[in-house]
Formats: sequence, structure tokens, C-alpha cells
Amino acid sequence: MQIVAANFKMHKTRKETIEYLKELKKIDFGSVKVAVFPPFTALFEDELIGAQNAYPEINGAFTGEIGLEQLSEFNIKRVLIGHSERRHIIGESQEFIAKKFDFYKKHNFEIFYCIGEPLDIRKQGLKAVVEYLKTQFVGIDLNYDKLIIAYEPVWAIGTGVSASLEEIRETHSEIRKFTSRPILYGGSVKLHNIKDILEIENVDGVLVGSASLDVEVFKEMIKIAKDEK
Ligand code: PEP
Repeated sequence: MQIVAANFKMHKTRKETIEYLKELKKIDFGSVKVAVFPPFTALFEDELIGAQNAYPEINGAFTGEIGLEQLSEFNIKRVLIGHSERRHIIGESQEFIAKKFDFYKKHNFEIFYCIGEPLDIRKQGLKAVVEYLKTQFVGIDLNYDKLIIAYEPVWAIGTGVSASLEEIRETHSEIRKFTSRPILYGGSVKLHNIKDILEIENVDGVLVGSASLDVEVFKEMIKIAKDEK
């Protein structure tokens, strides 16, 4: 089974997200698991929708955050944790990320857990990459049965430069040594490279940012995934 997920980041309004899902659902997903992560203001009850982030509390004095209570209003049971933009721009620590993981695991959420190395680490080679990724596994239950890992090299996100097929292959096979859960690739996945990426061993799907914003492109990606293993 392939997993194809869309991360809208800080794009699209509620109205646009509703229209997007309506359009998306015109196609048959077959056995592909599809997930869509819109901004908080566009959350609503739909089996495809997950939150891009959430605070590890039910509710409370955490200005600017949303917690379990707000997600539960829309019956949302899927969350993205550890995206590199939150690690590197917002400054979330591994300790805090692990707290979120624990909390939403306790509440039985499906967790898309993002990992990935910056460019200076990649330049040091695969061994350094694996050592770096191991620091992002600290405090994370890699056997959680609702865990989906997304390997997203920081230097490939939003840059238009995907990791090479060989880099993806060797990194996913290293990650596979730590977990049997699905491993997605993310980082400049586009219509022109998705097929080759999905064909790599130990790639169980993709997490797509910018290319997912166009629903016609995302539909096409799902169709390609349907034809894969
Ligand atoms: C992402 O942010 O998860 C991502 C993969 O972005 P992009 O596809 O734009 O590189």
C-alpha cells in the first residue's frame, strides 16, 4: 500500500481547502492511503484531514497553540510531528517533539513523524546522516502501530532539488533497520520524479509540499501511486 500525503503548510484558506477536497475525492484512491494537512483554520471533519502540528495537552494556557480538545471537535485523529520547518524555524527541540509524540500516541493518533538532516550533515556522508537521524529517534516509539515516518532531507524541502534516487534508497534502507513502519520520502517530490521515487525499495509513499497545492497535480500523483507496488 502506498501513502500519499499533502502538506499545505501556511497555504490555502478554509474555503479553498473544502473545494480542494471536493475535487480530490472525484478520483478513486484504490488502495492508496491519502492524507491532507491544511492550516489550523482549515481543519474540519474529514477522514483525509490531519493537523500540521498540535500542542501536547488537552487544553490550557498555551497562547497560539491548539490541543486535543480543538482537534477532537473535528474528530481529527492524525497529526504531523517534527516537520523540519518546526524544528529549524520555530526551534522545537527533540525533547519537546518527543513529548508531542508521546501525548498523541497516548491518544491513539496516527502520527506522521518527520526526520531529516541539514545539508552540512549530508555532505559528510551516509554514516553522518544516520548518526543525525538517530538523534531524531530519541524518545520516539518506532514500533508504534500508527506511526508513519517521513524522511525529508532539510536541503530538499521546498528547494526544487530532490535527493537523488540513490540517496533516498540508501537512507531509507538505513532507516528500515530501526523500524518496520511505513517510510515516506519528502522533499521536492514532483510529477516528474514521483514514479521513480515510489519504485525505490523501502519507500512506502511520499509527503508532498508545494506540488500538492495544485489539486490536479496531487490527483495525478495519487493515480501514479495507485499503479505502484
Ligand atoms: C514538506 O514540507 O513536507 C515538503 C516535502 O515540501 P516540498 O514538497 O515543497 O519540498
